[in-house]
Amino acid sequence: MADNFESLHKILELERKKGYDNTAVMGGLDRFLKSWAGQVAEAIPDRRLRHRFQQLLAKVDYASLSVAQRGEWVDSVLNLIAEMEGSPSVEAKPEEKTLAPPRKRKVPAVKSAASVSGYGLDSPITAVKGISTSLATKFGKLGVKTICDLLYFFPHRHLDYSQIKHISQLTEGDEQTIMANVWQAQVTRLGYRQGTEAIVGDETGNMRVVWFNQPYLAKRLPTNARIVLSGRVSLFKGHPVFESPEWEFVEDKDLVHTGRLVPVYSLTRGLYPRQVRKLMKEVVDQWAWQVADFLPSALRERCDLLELPQAISQAHYPEDEMVKDRARVRLAFDELFLLQLGVVSRKHDWQETQPDSAFSIDQELINSFIQSLPFELTTAQKRVLKEMLDDMQRPQPMSRLLQGEVGSGKTVVATAALLMVVANGFQGAFMAPTEILAKQHFATLCHLLARAGRRDEETPYLSRFSGLLSRPITVALLIGDITPSQKKELQQRIVDGDVDIAIGTHALIQKGVDFNKMGLAVVDEQQRFGVTQRSALREKGFRPHMLVMTATPIPRTLALTLYGDLDLSVIDELPPGRQTVKTKWLKPVQRESAYNFIRKKVSSGHQTFIICPLIEESEAIAAQAAVVEYERLSRDVFPDLRLGLLHGRLSGEEKDRVMQRFRDRQLDILVSTPVVEVGIDIPNATVMLIESADRFGLSQLHQFRGRVGRGEEQSYCMLLAENPSEVGRERLDIIESVQDGFVLAEEDLKLRGPGEFFGTRQSGLPDLRMARLSDVKILELARSEAIELFQVDPGLKKPEHQLLASEMAKVWPPTNAGEWS
Ligand code: ADP
Ligand code: MG
Repeated sequence: MADNFESLHKILELERKKGYDNTAVMGGLDRFLKSWAGQVAEAIPDRRLRHRFQQLLAKVDYASLSVAQRGEWVDSVLNLIAEMEGSPSVEAKPEEKTLAPPRKRKVPAVKSAASVSGYGLDSPITAVKGISTSLATKFGKLGVKTICDLLYFFPHRHLDYSQIKHISQLTEGDEQTIMANVWQAQVTRLGYRQGTEAIVGDETGNMRVVWFNQPYLAKRLPTNARIVLSGRVSLFKGHPVFESPEWEFVEDKDLVHTGRLVPVYSLTRGLYPRQVRKLMKEVVDQWAWQVADFLPSALRERCDLLELPQAISQAHYPEDEMVKDRARVRLAFDELFLLQLGVVSRKHDWQETQPDSAFSIDQELINSFIQSLPFELTTAQKRVLKEMLDDMQRPQPMSRLLQGEVGSGKTVVATAALLMVVANGFQGAFMAPTEILAKQHFATLCHLLARAGRRDEETPYLSRFSGLLSRPITVALLIGDITPSQKKELQQRIVDGDVDIAIGTHALIQKGVDFNKMGLAVVDEQQRFGVTQRSALREKGFRPHMLVMTATPIPRTLALTLYGDLDLSVIDELPPGRQTVKTKWLKPVQRESAYNFIRKKVSSGHQTFIICPLIEESEAIAAQAAVVEYERLSRDVFPDLRLGLLHGRLSGEEKDRVMQRFRDRQLDILVSTPVVEVGIDIPNATVMLIESADRFGLSQLHQFRGRVGRGEEQSYCMLLAENPSEVGRERLDIIESVQDGFVLAEEDLKLRGPGEFFGTRQSGLPDLRMARLSDVKILELARSEAIELFQVDPGLKKPEHQLLASEMAKVWPPTNAGEWS
């Protein structure tokens, strides 16, 4: 305990040294004095001294004193401490000795004053008065283990009980707050159970208050007690009545449950709102000021952000809506800023460590390639191609994400870039998530190059073209189903530099495949391609330019967040003449007519996808459900048609075989689980039926739908939903009428919470709790500040960036370094 006085002593000395400007404690002295010093006082055994100490501390409003008054006050406290230190009686109370010994603090972002009570912000929450081990276990289930976790355990919303009304002003149906005297409270029968009924009044009138199932309240509400009540008001026989409102006594202390913006926490079994609110108020008051602000103050001021301790406490117990918003902005900024700092530095690390990889662009070659195409490039394709070629002319390697709807023509653009690399004497790699897609790309590429030049040699795995460059261009397909000797030969030719463009799956980055001089890696369908695989490819020999392609429309906010290390190109235009997929949401009774429609389309030579319901529990259960559905359809519904089944439990080979049969029109209907949504081109498939469509996100529905409508024929997407929720209905309405993937992605974000969409945990990115996807401004501010800071002090070595550096180390653990790029 003597330590505590030591700390108080130091703080006051510091305050004196700073000229009594009320900055010795972050956020001002008052909060600290009120919350913390009160507890210190309790430990003073000498009653007289304790009383004087309490008087001095509890009554002071330090902020409002003049500098001279502050000086006087500080002196008198220091004198009193000196007096107490003279007496040997200041000691720990016995119960405090039983507490766990103070742990060595690991959280560096804490002011040294944090040790005043022997605990730091990373102490277990049992260090908080009133938190038992069993309570700590319950918090543990919510991921709250340390005091710092508790401070960051933010409410998901607030009830606005801040406007105190008179009884005469109350209106029916609304959440309202009054301050009143208790006239009478008694146990009463309410329905089948006992409850409490009270009559309360203020200067404008009296009213009834009832609490169901809480007869014990009657005893706790003595006559003449002053209480604040917050809750919904109903009318009973023309009179306003509060039904089971929140309540608390009017005391000197801050209100916790009523009369303010009251936090609502997401709780687990065994934690109660009143209990947690009370606890959080104490924790916030006592600990929030100890959190050190890791943002450099210049940055904080420039961006007009609240100080961190203030933001934390205001996020829990805001003074008003405005400060609450500012608190959220500050906390969201922190999350996005740390994230951006991480991605920016990873991109930088990668680019700076690369050898000079600038290519020269042979515009004539590009032009003749473009001219050879059977179509005119869209404006968007031309723009994106230029962005890429510009990148490749720079000394730093390109790191670009290319987004474009299914069918927007990404492959052609990638081919032009690969051609450019080959013209510079380097090799290119083109990787697809599945073998069948790799085969498709191989066929497409060969087709395009054959048009632009001449095909001299053709095998299923190797083609050679002349007429494009002064030397022939060799394109190879490296996939699993070639013989070991063929594979070995291909690998050898890649090592020798005899293959210019290698197309394949993960096999391309497996051990044994080395490139002679790799210049560009193209990764298609990014979402199926793990981060580690991307890095592995970069590690292959010469570290190349990288182009990542995805058909999943990602809104700008999300793209910058998840792929902030990549520059972004978007093909936001489809080639002319593409028809839209007619989409219809069917009622359960229309199932038969859906089957009839499929039958009709099949009989005129078309093919159909049927997507099974989303089953989240496990892939095994989903696969099983798909098997059952496949059997039902084969036996009862389409016994005369040829059905195939695709699910995640099949091996890659089995999947490819089924897909190949579907592609070769040996199957009429492909029944598939949602996990299998490959970007395969099957122009003859014109019908899609999606079961339990209400359970899919909009973007996912759109992905499915993109599997049809790839040919000349009108295509159809039918959505079945048994019993859709309100959100489900809304989604179905939207997908019926909207075709644009980006609009859908934005809508998706609005409907689903950010957490769900970000999926940051899976992606290995820091957790985002306060940031929302609509925070475009905050994100852009955070990004530009991160870039700027990174230019000034890339290693975060400057003294003013020390706290930030340690915060970064927590958010981006070094074990992940290099993995994320
Ligand atoms: P993505 O990979 O973006 O889904 P693809 O590159 O596979 O799309 O292109 C889809 C189809 O559209 C291909 O058959 C391709 O030849 C064709 N295509 C690409 N660009 C154009 C264009 N500008 N005009 C017409 N057709 C195009
Ligand atoms: Mg594609």
